Amino acid sequence: MKIFCIGRNYADHVKEMGNEIPDEPVIFMKPKSALIQNHTPFYYPEFTNELHYECELVVRISKNGKYIQEKHAANYYNAISVGIDFTARDIQNQLKQKGLPWEKGKSFDNSASVGNFVDLVPSTNKKNINFSLSKNDEVVQKGNTKDMIFSIDAIVADISKYFSLNIGDLIFTGTPAGAGECIVGDSLEGFLENNSVFKLEIK
Ligand code: ZN
Repeated sequence: MKIFCIGRNYADHVKEMGNEIPDEPVIFMKPKSALIQNHTPFYYPEFTNELHYECELVVRISKNGKYIQEKHAANYYNAISVGIDFTARDIQNQLKQKGLPWEKGKSFDNSASVGNFVDLVPSTNKKNINFSLSKNDEVVQKGNTKDMIFSIDAIVADISKYFSLNIGDLIFTGTPAGAGECIVGDSLEGFLENNSVFKLEIK
């Protein structure tokens, strides 16, 4: 399975990071070894001093496809959850400044945490899904898919121009404003609408 991530997909997060609004989806990937699920704890990596959470809606691919048209994209995924795109921000910034790839700061072991998946039903309005993240029981990030620069369907179509999508692949669809630092001892809990889908501790 593959893990795709979309960068800069919410205008308020693009602004807080001092980046420009992209004119096409910003795509990067994480390897399978990045995935943590089932409430497994996250161990603070020794190579960073600035670990950030980015709470994101995660989409699970349910049908193999390539060159998927946007109007047909909804047939290729059937479940969503909330996850964290863990980022070693200090490492990422150093690499960005040098114009180098981000992987060391973005794609390290356990950097993609995902909660329990919820099946999409025909009545789900995919342009109005709320998700949020609490740190130590205080809400630190709130997002709604209506604020995405590129919709889920547009993202699926764009990724599939370059990469085959296969059953089980995951797409992290970008973080809204409020991405921030976490330290050892913090507890992070993700919510899809008002339902908790994961809780993990930074150890
Ligand atoms: Zn992200």
